Amino acid sequence: MLERCAHCGFHFEREVGYFTNTAVINYAIASLPIIFIIAPLAYLRPHAIALEIGLGFLFAIALPLLCFRHVRSLWLAIDVLVRPPVAVEFDAGAPPER
Ligand SMILES: [Zn+2]
Repeated sequence: MLERCAHCGFHFEREVGYFTNTAVINYAIASLPIIFIIAPLAYLRPHAIALEIGLGFLFAIALPLLCFRHVRSLWLAIDVLVRPPVAVEFDAGAPPER
C-alpha cells in the first residue's frame, strides 16, 4: 500500500497501528462463507465432510488475501468521513495539485 496520496500528500496511516482493526474486518469477511455455506453443508452432509473442510480452508485463506486492500480502503474511507483530515496529515513536500 502506498504511504501517502500522490495527488495531495495525505498520509494513509493516520496514526501508529491505524490499520490494525482491518484484521478484524478481514476475519469477519472470511467467517461469513464458513457460517452461511460451509456449516450448513456440513450439517446436511455429516458423513462426507472432506469437501466442506477443503472449501473452508480455501475461503479462510483466499478471502482475506483478496479483500486485504479493499478492507483497508473501506476503513480509511469510513474514518475520513467520520474524522475529516487536518492540515498536519498532509505532506508539505507533496507535488502541487494539477
Ligand atoms: Zn489525495
